[in-house]
Amino acid sequence: MKYLHLFSNKNKFDYNSDSNKKNIEAIGNNYSYKCFFISNGKLAVISKELFFLTCNKDDIKKLNINQKNQYILGKEKNTIIAGFSVSEGKLKKILFNKSFTLTDIRECFNLAKKTIIPYISSLYSLTKWHKNNVFCALCGSKNISSDLGHSLKCSSISCRNKIFPRIDPTVIMLIRNEDKILLARNAIWKKKLYSCLAGFSEPNESLEETVERETYEEVGLNIHNINYKFSQFWPISNNLMIGFEATSNSLDLKINRLEIEDAIWVTKKQLLKLSKDKEIILPKKYAIAFCLIENWLRK
Ligand SMILES: [Zn+2]
Repeated sequence: MKYLHLFSNKNKFDYNSDSNKKNIEAIGNNYSYKCFFISNGKLAVISKELFFLTCNKDDIKKLNINQKNQYILGKEKNTIIAGFSVSEGKLKKILFNKSFTLTDIRECFNLAKKTIIPYISSLYSLTKWHKNNVFCALCGSKNISSDLGHSLKCSSISCRNKIFPRIDPTVIMLIRNEDKILLARNAIWKKKLYSCLAGFSEPNESLEETVERETYEEVGLNIHNINYKFSQFWPISNNLMIGFEATSNSLDLKINRLEIEDAIWVTKKQLLKLSKDKEIILPKKYAIAFCLIENWLRK
């Protein structure tokens, strides 16, 4: 499970204790900056392998990027990790003497060093959240960036509504029956991809009740022994994935074809053979679904 914490940022910038620092210019001159750039949800990868530019404060001033598009993502000793959301046209001007490609975020997770993936995922999820919350839901005025990009505040003085990034709790469960586990696939997934069952938590239910309800809705199984295993933040859709194991006494599936295309029971031996023969594709190593399966395989 060495990839379970791939997106966890251990070098957060403490914007709470530095709340008077409203923008990069206010942070101080003694830092160098690692600067990441994102445009419409795609990250700038410079010269095929470089994910950030190293800058000083003056370099950043020259970039002339509006404060609302600046994000502070972390701090490593004397280096501030900054992210900037810019148009492709602006990016061409900033990187005028360098070749770059705007790269899909999942592809970045495959290409980038583990040490910078938390910053990339943080920039991706924050910019997406800002884009979806341009206006205040209470009064309709424009929201303004606050806490160095980590919150939004309504611009209306009479409202001043403050909001924080939305995170959706989502359960994901490995269902066991004696020496077998249940794998399922959604019709919209890429061909042959099989994973654990999962679903959103609804208002007025505990996580255990979500696990029970979703399992019954998707494959018609009644389960028990519902035990929490571990969790993972999933930056693509801002889900907090909460991983469980549970037991079913029955192997009889009533598959809900509106949600699930296929579901199969497999032993360890069958799983390894199906995967080796490429009859099925398992989730990416960094996904919590893979960690739940790997954890079971090692038992
Ligand atoms: Zn408002």
